[in-house]
Amino acid sequence: SLSLRAASKRFGAGPTGVTALAGVDLDIEPGTLTAVMGPSGSGKSTLLHLAAGLDLPTSGDVVIGGRSVVGLDDDALTALRREQVGVVFQSFNLVPSLTALENVQLPALLAGREPERQRIRDLLDDLGIAGLGARRPHELSGGQQQRFAIARALAHRPAIVLADEPTGALDTATSLDVQEILVAQAAAGQAIVVVTHDPVVAARAERVVLLRDGRIGGDLPRTDAAEIAQRMLQVAR
Ligand code: ATP
Ligand code: MG
Repeated sequence: SLSLRAASKRFGAGPTGVTALAGVDLDIEPGTLTAVMGPSGSGKSTLLHLAAGLDLPTSGDVVIGGRSVVGLDDDALTALRREQVGVVFQSFNLVPSLTALENVQLPALLAGREPERQRIRDLLDDLGIAGLGARRPHELSGGQQQRFAIARALAHRPAIVLADEPTGALDTATSLDVQEILVAQAAAGQAIVVVTHDPVVAARAERVVLLRDGRIGGDLPRTDAAEIAQRMLQVAR
């Protein structure tokens, strides 16, 4: 499970500083798919980075798999992250010197485990990238890189999967495939948080959290894409 407790994040000091997140409380349960929506600059990526233990809150706390990040040293935080969390970054962040397949195998190796070959084969198949594993990231299209980033986040079965715009570079059909995979992983027990601008993606989630100016400005249960789009417009104004 994953909790943000009055989590705030400020970048920079003094009057020129920016409050990216302002006291967010959020509980994410295993086996659920949660969408986070909000205007550009509302703090979505910041929330995801805190939830992943990639960055520490300026105040408040983040509890990952029952462990509070506040007070952990760098090594302990890294170990916690490798054990518990898979991340799909907004800009993919595949390791350029590794092949695409090696990128997918990496999180298991970093967590001290053997990569699960069959699971990885199935994920690459489902994502339509099975034949591309030997390529390096720069030899892949943006959408192909994005799909390898998704496979990398899921392959080692982390309890928590955090995905920043995971369908942003994908066509509609491929986006639907990715949605199916995320829903299936949530059903299998992973806690999945997806940042998205797409109401169709959000409509697949159990819960849609709306961020505005670093605060949660709304929290709605599963609803249809049209209603989500409507609520998004209200938050944006
Ligand atoms: P988008 O939809 O455009 O990806 P976002 O909701 O993910 O936006 P964030 O990236 O979380 O927004 O940024 C929230 C605020 O924090 C913005 O005002 C941004 O300029 C600021 N910010 C984010 N990261 C940093 C940083 N490393 N240093 C300074 N300011 C930052
Ligand atoms: Mg962002």
